[in-house]
Amino acid sequence: MAASSATPLIVRLVSASVAIANRAGSIIRKIMKDGSLNIVQKGGEGIFDPQTEADRRAQHCIVASLVTRFPGITVIGEEELEKERIEDRQVEMGESEEVLGVQCPSQYQDIDLKDVVVWVDPVDGTTEYTQGFLDHVTVLIGVAVKGIAVAGVIHQPYFNYKEKPVIEQGRTMWGILGLGGFGFEHKDLPQRVITTTRSHLTEDVQKTIDAMKPDEILRVGGAGHKVILLLEGRASAYIFASRGCKKWDTCAPEAILHAVGGKLTDCHNHSYQYHKDVEHQNTGGVIAAFNNHQFYIERVPESIRDKLPTQVPSE
Ligand code: AMP
Ligand code: MG
Ligand code: MG
Repeated sequence: MAASSATPLIVRLVSASVAIANRAGSIIRKIMKDGSLNIVQKGGEGIFDPQTEADRRAQHCIVASLVTRFPGITVIGEEELEKERIEDRQVEMGESEEVLGVQCPSQYQDIDLKDVVVWVDPVDGTTEYTQGFLDHVTVLIGVAVKGIAVAGVIHQPYFNYKEKPVIEQGRTMWGILGLGGFGFEHKDLPQRVITTTRSHLTEDVQKTIDAMKPDEILRVGGAGHKVILLLEGRASAYIFASRGCKKWDTCAPEAILHAVGGKLTDCHNHSYQYHKDVEHQNTGGVIAAFNNHQFYIERVPESIRDKLPTQVPSE
C-alpha cells in the first residue's frame, strides 16, 4: 500500500515517522558499532549533557526526511545543528503498511499542515547510550496539532539486543489519539512501581517518590523508555518533580500514553502545550501514569510543587 493524496495527513505523517525512526535507529546502532561517538558537552560548565555523533546524524536524517516529504512543516529537534545542504543528508522515503492500513479518527481527517509541529528527540537517553545502557535509548517523534500531542512514535533501537542478532533488534511503538497505541502489549501490575531518572536525580525528586510509598523504584534513562515501562505495565508511574525534561522528550510518549487512556501532566495536573513558540523546558516536572494518575498528583509535596512553575493557567 502506498500513501496517496487521499490519505489523511496525520496518517501519512505517522506512517512516514515510523519508517524514519527505524532508519534513525540503524544510524544509532551503526555509530555505536563503529565506536565513532565523538562526544561533545552541550550543558555548559559542570553540567553533564552529552551530544554524540548519533544525536547529530539521527536528527539530520529525521528532519531532512520530514521537510522533504512534508514541505513547509514545522519540525523542532533537540539538537542545534549547523545548516547542511539538503542533498548531503540522508532522506528516508519509506512507509509503515500497518499505519497506512488504519481508519483515521474522524476528528483528525482534515488537519492543516500549518497547525502541525513535530517534536524530535533523535536520541533520548544519550547519557545511557554513552554508558552502555543501550535498551534505555529511544528515538522520539511526536506530532502536535494546535498545541496538543496527538500522535507519537517511539523507536527503541536496542530492544532485544542482549538476546537477538542485530537484524532482529529494535521495535517501534506508535499511537494516535482516538485510535489507540500499537507495538506493545499491556499487562496489569499488582504493585506500585515508580520509574524515575537515573542520571538527573535530585532531593526533591526522591522526596516526591517517597511520599508515594512505592513498592519498588526503577531508575532508568530516557523519558521514552520510562513511558514504555508504563505502556507495558512494568511500572505504574513515571515521576520527575524537577525541571530539565523538554517538549521533545514528552510529546511522542504523551501522545501514545494518552491514546491508550493514560495521562502525562506537570506536577500541577496541567497538560503541556506543544505549539511552536512554547518554552522548551517542562518546568512543571512530569507525572505520568497508565492508571490512577490522580493518586500521584495528590501526593506531590506542596512545597516541591510550588517550586515548579506550571505553563498553563489553572482551570
Ligand atoms: P532522564 O529521566 O534523566 O533520563 O531524563 C529524561 C530526559 O530529560 C532526557 O532527555 C534528559 O536529557 C532530559 N533531562 C532531564 N533532566 C535534565 C537536566 N537536569 N538537564 C538536562 N537534561 C535533562
Ligand atoms: Mg531526551
Ligand atoms: Mg536527546
